[in-house]
Amino acid sequence: MEFEQSHQWHFQLEPFAGESFSHFLGRYCAVNCITPNALAQHITAGTVAVGRWRKLRYTPSPSERQLQRLAEITGASQAALKALLPQEPMQIGTLRLCAACYGDEPYHRSHWQYKATQYCERHGLTLLARCPCCKCPFPIPAEWAAGICLRCGIAFADMADFQKQIIGK
Ligand SMILES: [Zn+2]
Ligand SMILES: [Zn+2]
Repeated sequence: MEFEQSHQWHFQLEPFAGESFSHFLGRYCAVNCITPNALAQHITAGTVAVGRWRKLRYTPSPSERQLQRLAEITGASQAALKALLPQEPMQIGTLRLCAACYGDEPYHRSHWQYKATQYCERHGLTLLARCPCCKCPFPIPAEWAAGICLRCGIAFADMADFQKQIIGK
């Protein structure tokens, strides 16, 4: 019943619409002040597997049992957690950001990484592929808790000025 005890002191968390699984895991670790390895133990997953999910590498994807454990500790439904996994082929080499979307709601969206996504359809803006100030690549979404470029400190939301308008949008 050790698990029942741990259940009580964990802050619970609802996923945001379209949030990436990586970002959700990072948010859960941040609010509960736990390491990714501790999270791996809680959901009986390997630390290597959790490390891969944090990098948006979902092969192998979380098992039903692991999603069930994650649902138990986060309070989110298993279906909501499954919806955080990508629905389309992704490009994961370069992390992308619509800073205008981030200013609206501060989290990493899965669809920014979809191969088919060329720009933000909501704002009609190009996506950023690195920090526009220092050119540093964005950290993995699991490490976006601070919402800033970890090298130069500019806030993600303030990067919207550097996005270009898509003509005709
Ligand atoms: Zn946007
Ligand atoms: Zn920077």
